[in-house]
This record gives sequence, structure tokens and C-alpha cells, in this order.
Amino acid sequence: MQLFTTIKTLQEALKNIALTQTIGFVPTMGALHEGHLSLVKNAKKTADKVIVSIFVNPTQFDKEEDLINYPSTFQKDITLLQKEACDFVFIPSAKEMYSDSIKAQEFDFDGLDKVMEGAHRKGHFNGVGTIVKRLFNIVQPDFAFFGEKDFQQLQIIKKLVEKEGLNVKIIPVPIYREKDGLAMSSRNARLTDVYRKEAPFIYQTLQKAKTIFGINNAVKTIEWVEAAFKKHPILELEYFSIANEATLLPIPTSSKKYTKEIKSNQKYRGFIAVFAGDIRLIDNTALY
Ligand code: AMP
Repeated sequence: MQLFTTIKTLQEALKNIALTQTIGFVPTMGALHEGHLSLVKNAKKTADKVIVSIFVNPTQFDKEEDLINYPSTFQKDITLLQKEACDFVFIPSAKEMYSDSIKAQEFDFDGLDKVMEGAHRKGHFNGVGTIVKRLFNIVQPDFAFFGEKDFQQLQIIKKLVEKEGLNVKIIPVPIYREKDGLAMSSRNARLTDVYRKEAPFIYQTLQKAKTIFGINNAVKTIEWVEAAFKKHPILELEYFSIANEATLLPIPTSSKKYTKEIKSNQKYRGFIAVFAGDIRLIDNTALY
């Protein structure tokens, strides 16, 4: 496995890859876990050469403290990637990626960025779009792998590719969970024992919401989730939303009738954000 910290040296190495070989790319912010490695495994199956980037992107953080506290485990990350037989690792500095201007470009994502994570984290998706576009331009991958853990991000990246006319195929990878159902996240390492024990409640609630949505309307399902968290105040619900998978628009809740027709024609997912103390956790699940 070869490691690069500059664009120039990485691109020189990428030039040596035969034209007939495909490149699979997995962008990450490091502090790698099995969820990230499932993306790498998918990339290994699909592409001839696999490149992973590790870069904690400052422009996608709306809170300075989150950026400062973001876990960093470079040595462990490199060992894990070696075990997966990853071909290239790119670990650039902020200066390498942004020169002297750490600023996000403004994108029009056709409203995909206005709801849920976008509504709660100002500027987040412009930051994500900026860095992913830059990384795609540097790496020129044939395939890029994104986790459904960040489902809204995945849809926004697809929109970015479409709008900017980028020549890369985006491959979604299912959410990788701990045995108790908690979606793996670099942030889980920052949970205290008490919060770690409570956190599986998030996915358990999503699963029950799926059952309720199967026999009830969206309003009732949302009310049930909100009530469940009120009864479980150690975890603070920020939002629970039922949205169309493709448009991310919330299901129309104006009608309190049983929304069988609406549901059968479209794919809906439940999206959730929860505070476990200071740690913000997100998750989602298909409701069909
Ligand atoms: P991050 O390092 O958090 O920016 O994540 C890098 C990539 O890994 C993103 O595409 C995430 O959606 C994906 N990812 C993170 N956690 C998981 C997980 N538990 N399951 C699947 N993909 C994940």
C-alpha cells in the first residue's frame, strides 16, 4: 500500500495505472471502523485499484469544537487499510486541499440540502460538495463509494455528479451496524459507557417506526417516535422525519388518513438525529 500526502505525488502514481484498469475511491475523514472498511471491501470487489482518502474537512463543520474534537487515529487507520489490501491512501493537509482559502463553494442541490442535516447544520453540504468535487478532480475515479449511513449526503453527491457532469459512478453501501444495532460511526468512540449502552435505542425505535408506518399514517408514526423519546429522556431527539428516498421531501402529512396509496407508489425512509449528551448521532432506515 502506498501513502501520499501531496496531490502531485499521488497523481504521478495514479498515472502509472494502466488505462484498462478501473479506480475505486472511498473518501473518509479517518477514525476508521468496520463501516468504512465495508466501503473498502465493496471497492475492492468492483474496481482494479482502490484509493482511500483521509481528510477531516474543515468546511463541513458548522461547530468549531466538533472539528477540534474529531477523533484522529492515523496509525490504526493505516494498519486497517493495509489489512484490506487497499492500494493507495491519500492523507493531505488542509493547505494542500484549500491553499490559503478555507472556504466552501456554494452549490444548488435542487433543495436536497435544505432539509434534515442541511437544516440543522448550516453550510454542511456546501462543505461536503466542495471537498468531494475537489477529491474527484484529483483522483478521477471510475467508481466512488458512499455509505447509506449518511443517506442525505449520498443523494447530494449523486446530484453533484449530475449537475457538474462528473464522470464517476456513485455506489451506495448499506449501513454497517454494531451487533446491538447501533450504526457504526467515528463519533461512537466519544460516547461514555452510559450513553453507549443507551444508543441502540435509536435503531430499535426506527425498526418499531417501520412496523407502525406499515399499518398507520405518517403523522401517527412521527407522534409515536416523539413520544418514545419523551419517555426515554436520556437521549434527546433532534428530528425524526419520514421522507421520500429520492427527493428527500417529507411525506405529506396534511392528510391524517391512512396513506396506503402514497406509500405504495414511493419509497420512504425514516431519518433521525439524536443527542447522546454532547454527541450527535444520525441514523436512517427504509420504511418499505
Ligand atoms: P466519514 O469518515 O464519517 O466521513 O465517512 C466516510 C464514508 O463512510 C461515508 O460515505 C459514510 O457514509 C461511510 N460510513 C460511515 N459509517 C458507516 C457505516 N456505519 N456504514 C456504512 N457506511 C458508513
